[in-house]
Amino acid sequence: MVTTPEPLPRLRLRVSAAAETSLRSGHPWLFADSIRDQNRPGSPGELAVVYDRRNRFLALGLFDPESPIRLRVLEAGKPRKLDAAWWQERLERACALRRPLFDDQTTGFRWLHGENDGWPGLVLDRYADTLVLKLYTLAWLPRLSHLLDLFRAQFRPARIVLRLSRNLQPAALQHFSRSDGDILVGPPLEGPVLFHESGLLFEADVIRGQKTGFFLDQRENRRQIESLARGRRVLNAFSFSGGFSLYAARGGAAALTDLDISAHALEGARRNFALNQSHPLVSACAHHCVQADAFDWLSQNPSPRFDLVILDPPSLARREAERAGAIRAYQRLAALGIRALAPGGILLACSCSAHVSAPEFFQTIRRAAAQSGRPSLELGTATEPPDHPATFPEAHYLKAIFLHFEPPPPSEGPF
Ligand code: SAH
Repeated sequence: MVTTPEPLPRLRLRVSAAAETSLRSGHPWLFADSIRDQNRPGSPGELAVVYDRRNRFLALGLFDPESPIRLRVLEAGKPRKLDAAWWQERLERACALRRPLFDDQTTGFRWLHGENDGWPGLVLDRYADTLVLKLYTLAWLPRLSHLLDLFRAQFRPARIVLRLSRNLQPAALQHFSRSDGDILVGPPLEGPVLFHESGLLFEADVIRGQKTGFFLDQRENRRQIESLARGRRVLNAFSFSGGFSLYAARGGAAALTDLDISAHALEGARRNFALNQSHPLVSACAHHCVQADAFDWLSQNPSPRFDLVILDPPSLARREAERAGAIRAYQRLAALGIRALAPGGILLACSCSAHVSAPEFFQTIRRAAAQSGRPSLELGTATEPPDHPATFPEAHYLKAIFLHFEPPPPSEGPF
């Protein structure tokens, strides 16, 4: 007699009182060490239900036995059936948020920003007709074909590329035969993908590049830089592929220096400049690349030669233990950046370290400005752009502060 295996009972979790409170308040993560009881072992991507002490439904989420974030919440408060309509609605909600933000001048942006859009541990970026799906939990891998069906129907992309956070890569290969950079849908890629941001043309290395190939999260700050750059000599430190520089050039910068430790990044910057030569202000702007450690280069080149300095280093605190060191490094970097500014210059200092809070970072840069002994005016601060919403404390990571040194006195007339 042929028997079919009994379906496994639903994976059920009970958790600490603190975790109950956290889930009830809408936090999207349940950590492994908060689990008090589990009816059976679970596998990656299974749906698990969390019940409170009185056996009431608390949350439903994706289980990941390999991650300290053991459950990522999909629904909390009321039980819901995750049927086709539920997934479609979840996708549509995120799309509705982005559609009014972008026209055909901006074809690179984030469609899905993980937990903040109700897609925990999953990012979906658009680069023209290529989608890049980046996963931060194994839990999505058994659901990949479902995701691809959804994304294909919604976006009709020419291509979908899979990116995997580094810590997932061994298990993804071993258990799911998936590798970072796999093309899941569409033809192989011959080179980088071209896309538009605010009318400028950029390339993204979606297969191997950092993040998903481009720092889409700095778009709004780049737009600010365009509006501040006219006539200025600009230093773009930690330039990567020259994102800020292209905006500064189009904004009428007199000269541009891209400074990065990576020759590969600077080659990308040169190609991005070449792609935008049809714009007269870009082609008129002198563009230099310097391959060096930005801290060393700024220390060794003390003369104030720039009118606009952009500092956008990689995360300087990858864990909590590195926080204090990172704050010292941000302050030192800001001091070096200010020293490189000619009178009347503008500084943009950025941080993408989630472990350094916005108030801490802004205080650090203000302290560096005060210690420089030069009068300055704060032009403004910024955090995440609208296609990277942050809906829970750990999701905040991006900070930017603009300071104008020796600002001109306020004008007296009506103009
Ligand atoms: N501002 C960029 C993103 C910067 S990413 C944009 O808008 O696209 C950080 C960059 O810093 C990377 O390109 C990396 O190569 C570079 N980098 C890392 N450490 C560095 C160092 N010590 N000195 C100079 N560049 C560095």
